[in-house]
Amino acid sequence: MSSLPTVPETLARATRTYPDREAIVYPDKDVRLTYAELDDRVTQCANALRARGVETDDRVSLLLHNSAEFAIALFGLLRAGAVFNPVNYRLAPDEVGYILEDSGSTHLIFEEATRETVERGRERFETVEEYVYVDDDVEDGPAYATGFHELVDGGATTTPNVTVDPTDQYAIMYTSGTTGRPKGVVHSHRDATYHNMLYTGQTGVNFTDIGISAMPLYHNAELNCGLLSRVNVGAKTVICHDFDPQRTLELVDEERATHLFVASRVWRQLLEATDEVPFDGSSLELGIYGAAPMPPSLLESCRERFTERYATAYGMTEMGPCATFLLPFEIDQHRESVGRPGPNHEVRIVEPTENESPDDPVTPSDTLEAGQTGEIALRGPPMMDRYWNAPEKTAEAIRDGWFFTGDAGYLDDDGYLYLVDRIDDMIISGGENIYPTDVENVLYQHDAVLEAAIVGEESEEWGEVVVAYVVTDGSVTESALDEFCSDHDSLAAFKRPRRYEFRDELPKNPSGKIQKFKLRDDQ
Ligand code: ATP
Ligand code: MG
Repeated sequence: MSSLPTVPETLARATRTYPDREAIVYPDKDVRLTYAELDDRVTQCANALRARGVETDDRVSLLLHNSAEFAIALFGLLRAGAVFNPVNYRLAPDEVGYILEDSGSTHLIFEEATRETVERGRERFETVEEYVYVDDDVEDGPAYATGFHELVDGGATTTPNVTVDPTDQYAIMYTSGTTGRPKGVVHSHRDATYHNMLYTGQTGVNFTDIGISAMPLYHNAELNCGLLSRVNVGAKTVICHDFDPQRTLELVDEERATHLFVASRVWRQLLEATDEVPFDGSSLELGIYGAAPMPPSLLESCRERFTERYATAYGMTEMGPCATFLLPFEIDQHRESVGRPGPNHEVRIVEPTENESPDDPVTPSDTLEAGQTGEIALRGPPMMDRYWNAPEKTAEAIRDGWFFTGDAGYLDDDGYLYLVDRIDDMIISGGENIYPTDVENVLYQHDAVLEAAIVGEESEEWGEVVVAYVVTDGSVTESALDEFCSDHDSLAAFKRPRRYEFRDELPKNPSGKIQKFKLRDDQ
């Protein structure tokens, strides 16, 4: 066996070292499992799945909120040699169907909260051979599904005789679908282990730590940075079924949580919730934010209320996810930055219009200088192997060993990375590159603007022109917004929207990111 562990082997090793420490706490159902107990359940789950016909490399999908069962099913299916396919429980039946069909999933584990989606979509879930239902303690469970607890209880307790290699596929995780249809990202066990080492090294998480999984485990930020990295070091994970700010705060106090990693916007919700429930928070040692920039004033309030020590990371599903880190001791000097590359990682900023062919090597001459905005390219050991079923997309994204992120950004003189926008959203008008956020940031300063998205529209004369899609409180006209933009000294005339579209809402993916490709498609 390789000395590099597979994902289920990280659990086995932690169990040998810390058998009696608590691994999983799931307060919603009063579940508390030590490492030894978790490991036993996982072995039973693996054996039960094998006995039900799950074979090595079969894809097993989870359509589940966070729960202790999520963790048992995850490690169990991996110990059975299967590939983990988490599905966002907020997706519509057809979107779930697309993922199940694309990944060729044979088993679907779901719950009461996702039962309706399954029942509406079942006819098109053609690859699924068996349904497993987690809430088998409720009456009137679906007749077509096997009960999860019954299944696991019946599983043998001896370690299954299945060989899993670190280079084997561990997961197919679908991206959030911000820039198009979600892509299946293939990661090996080795990628997850490398990411564990990276993340634990950067954040210092150890066996005494207690983290709250408040964000969804189907997303690889919570999965890899939360659950997997904690299991890797024998730490404790407190699992919240669904995000509820007040409940999260209560759990921080009740369980004496030390680490909390949530999206930047969620920190605001938590801060507001401190007025609603009694909250002490003295156990918190590290707060982490990600997924979007954190306004400096919000960060300051959070540091006063929660913990002085904050960090952030930048990455994406394809990188497993974290590639850059901004650590507590450097956050004051580089607030707007997403940090520098993590150990063994590299960042390059590349001219976005070049390197479109997979054969084009990334040479230093393509690399832009500090201060210049271009496409962010990353490389590091946890990087994905490929996109599932999409060789052309893989060839476009991975060139010469670098992952081309599709994000635009720049490095400063000290090598700190700043995000600007998504490359696909960049507008080229009359030969000038326009980054939508420059314009959106101006519009957001107008009190009547609730939401704004800038996209390019084809134009014979200019190539593209700038169009603004806005959601307002109804108190502002197109000419007033145009005047507001022209009065703004930071906005060059060529960046000013040529047209405004007033909308009641903007299309968003389930994580709340605006889907500009849908606005472009509507034009
Ligand atoms: P798709 O690839 O399907 O369009 P997505 O890129 O939104 O969806 P994810 O992998 O969940 O899917 O998100 C990664 C993206 O999130 C990054 O490419 C980047 O645009 C954004 N992001 C990640 N970390 C940060 C951060 N710290 N600050 C701001 N944006 C971030
Ligand atoms: Mg992406």
